[in-house]
Formats: sequence, structure tokens, C-alpha cells
Amino acid sequence: MAKSTPFFTSLKDLFAFLELPEPSTQVANSRFSFLVSRHFASKIEKNNPNDPLLREILPTAQENLQVEGFCDDPVGDSDSEKEPGILQKYKGRVLIEPTFACSLHCRFCFRRAEPKRSLENFLARFDAWLSQATDIHEVILSGGDPMMLPKAQLAELFQVILSKDHVKTVRIHTRTPISFPQVFDIENKASIYPLLQKLSQKKKLVVVVHVDHPNELDDASAKVFAALQELNAILLNQSTLLKGINDSGEVLTELSFKLFSQGVLPYYLHQLDHATGVAHFEISDAQALQIVEEVRQAVPGYLVPRLVREIAGEASKTPIVNPGR
Ligand code: SF4
Repeated sequence: MAKSTPFFTSLKDLFAFLELPEPSTQVANSRFSFLVSRHFASKIEKNNPNDPLLREILPTAQENLQVEGFCDDPVGDSDSEKEPGILQKYKGRVLIEPTFACSLHCRFCFRRAEPKRSLENFLARFDAWLSQATDIHEVILSGGDPMMLPKAQLAELFQVILSKDHVKTVRIHTRTPISFPQVFDIENKASIYPLLQKLSQKKKLVVVVHVDHPNELDDASAKVFAALQELNAILLNQSTLLKGINDSGEVLTELSFKLFSQGVLPYYLHQLDHATGVAHFEISDAQALQIVEEVRQAVPGYLVPRLVREIAGEASKTPIVNPGR
């Protein structure tokens, strides 16, 4: 019998697992394939074609529509690139993309259309670049999902960062706590947790998890966050507002409380980045402000995420505020 992998790469297999009838037309997207971890899929309600987590990962025909104003590089990554995989948008901070691998392919991803160019010699190039960039105090690990790097490569990357005294903080953007928590499991030989332990002895760790719906959080994510807290990591969440998935004050209120119960503070709530193929997830700014107002009335101030948009070329995220406030 074929060994099952921790991922679904076929919609047919996912639908069988979810006890759903196969879709009559399967939507192929050669630029952004279908992928979801079995762990994430296990949180989708069986026999429910409208489950919000299913909507996050299910390719649809709407992705193939060309919509004005939506493009392949909506946040201006290419203008900020110093070298392949090394981006500098903000003073004192560098964002790196050491991998394009993810544990699931979120259909609303703003980097979904990014050309998967070669990152050959990435570590050597990054080491050389960081050695001369002595004003950099924070390295931001992005991607792809940096926690999906093979352990040996992640060890080398951390070694490069550890060797630079001017780097004080390492910020990690990841969905693995909710989609592939086994990478943190100390019992697992491939666990990356010992690498994080070593890194945290010399650098401040900030982990920005991307959770969009309260159903994504489970016992496994709580265990990961507890382990990260033992490393004194600051744990923050960022979500994207998504039509038909989390566009309600009630859902986001539940998300804020559930994140807090697992030791994570809601930080950013993003309006959708205008990447090609994601327009059907967008809601208006007026709706977004209304939703945030509902959350504000239901939770303490420290659990209200900041509603922002990323605008290409701007020196920081742009807050979206109600003109009347
Ligand atoms: S980069 Fe993040 S948002 Fe994009 S597909 Fe990967 S995990 Fe999802």
C-alpha cells in the first residue's frame, strides 16, 4: 500500500476524506497548485461544502478572472528586492524569503503568483549581504513559510543570523502552528524546536502567526504556542479579511478570544492585497470598519486588531480608519 504523505495534493482525495461529492468541474490552476496538510484538512467539517476552512484552500473558477487593479506583485516586492529573496522595505529591518514551500496553499495568498525563481546560493549571498548591512537590527523570515525549510537548511540560516551581533531580533511569519504543528514537536526527530531554542538564547524571537478563523486553532496550536512562550517569544497574529470566511464581527471576536486563550495577541487585520486571482475574497473598507467596530464593542482594547492595508512603496502599513472617529 502506498505510504500516505502528510499532505493532500489531489482534490479528489481531499473530497473523499471530507465525504463530499466530487466537484463536477475541477479547477486547474497551473500557477498556484492545490495543496493542504492533512492536519489543516482534519479541522474542516465533513460533508460541509461551505466550511470556512475549506474555502481558504479550495481552488475555484473565480481565480481565473482578470480583475482591473489586481496584479502579480500587489505590494511592490520586486521594487524592494536587494537580491533574489532579500527584500528591504523598512529601515533597520530586512525580509528574507529562504523558501517558497508552504504546508498549504491559501487561495488568497498575495505571493501566489510570485515567480518561483531559484534561490541558489541563498545562504551564502544572505551571509555576505547581512555582514555589510550593519544597520539591520531585525531579520524577518517570510516566504513561503520559513518553518517549512528542511531542518539542516534552517540550522544553517540560524547560524548566519547568530553570527551577526548587530541583529537583535528575529521575526518569523508562519502558518505552521495551525497547519503543520509537527515541525515543533520535540518528540519528532525532524523537530526544529531545538534550533529555535538555540536562536532564542542570543536573539529576541517574535512569531507572527497567520490565523484567519477561530476553527484553525486547536490543541496542537495551543501546545506549539506554549512551547514558544517557554522561549520568551512574543506571539502575535495577523489575519486577512476574507469574504465568506471571516467577514463578521462575531467570527473575529471569537478569534480574538481564542487567540488570547492560547497566549497570542491579535495584531494586524489586513484588507486583502490585490493579487491576481483573489478579487472574490475582497470586502469594502466600509464593511471592514463596521466589522472592526463590532469587535471593538465585544472585546477589551488589547484584543482589537489594527485594520491596515499594505500600499506598495509606503514606508509602513497604512491604517484604515473611520473618518468619523
Ligand atoms: S505564503 Fe502563507 S498565505 Fe501564502 S500560501 Fe503560503 S502559508 Fe498561505
